[in-house]
Amino acid sequence: MKKLFLVLYLIPFLLLPTGKVVGAENPLRVEVFPKGIRQGDVFLVRTSAPAALSSIHGEFQGKKFPLAQGANTGTCEGLVGVDLNTKPSRYEMKVVATDRGGHSYSKGLPCKVEKTNFAVQKLTLPRSMVDLDPKTLERVNRESKKLKALFEGVQTETLWRGAFVRPVEGELSGAFGVRRIINGQTKNPHSGIDLRADEGTPVVACNGGRVALVDEFFFTGKSVILGHGGGLYSMYFHLSEIGVSEGARVHTGDLLGRVGSTGRSTGPHLHWGMIIRGARIDPLSFLRLTKHLQE
Ligand SMILES: [Zn+2]
Repeated sequence: MKKLFLVLYLIPFLLLPTGKVVGAENPLRVEVFPKGIRQGDVFLVRTSAPAALSSIHGEFQGKKFPLAQGANTGTCEGLVGVDLNTKPSRYEMKVVATDRGGHSYSKGLPCKVEKTNFAVQKLTLPRSMVDLDPKTLERVNRESKKLKALFEGVQTETLWRGAFVRPVEGELSGAFGVRRIINGQTKNPHSGIDLRADEGTPVVACNGGRVALVDEFFFTGKSVILGHGGGLYSMYFHLSEIGVSEGARVHTGDLLGRVGSTGRSTGPHLHWGMIIRGARIDPLSFLRLTKHLQE
């Protein structure tokens, strides 16, 4: 009697027209690189992509992310950023696919985000650069709105390809994620890295993309931002000269401009920032993916 009840109970589930294939083999194989993920890291998701798929995407922390044709045929790849303020915890990364017959498959992988120990830095700057007058404050607000709108824009085409490169050779003079206290006031954490280099040193594109912004801002000085597709942007700040125009298509290693000290800066350096779908990521984390991103 008990057995019969169980069978009858299961029948409605086996017949549910959800498009899910009950008992069929799930064709998705998913891998994540690197194996250890910390706050401020980017990670690569690589999945097998059987030829008969009609759609595929990933999900992390409730947000969808695109998966595009990978370096090897039959694979799809995507980059996922873990914002520097993400709570260290266990999360699930999920890949969802539909085949041409309308059947959907999903595959989840547990992803543990570890804590990064960000440093604290105390800086003293001239009051005129910190306590902003109303006119400057208005300018700063306008500029930050422009950046926010840019990063929220949709850019579907994937333009990056293969490994990321350092935009300038130079010693690290400002680490990523440093909690800054300027003239005794706590400010936003440092959302990029500073690379010290002589004024005029060439600055190159860290990967393929399109020039999304060329401007001169109060804090960031002469600035170039590249859009690489899928919500990934790279930023090059405090330049002395800019050699590209908005809309131009650039490839890995193309000249963008030259190192300078424009904007709020204490000496010639490049501020290199990376953002992916709003998550602020350590640029060095992109370089650590090199061995997994061969063409
Ligand atoms: Zn910086």
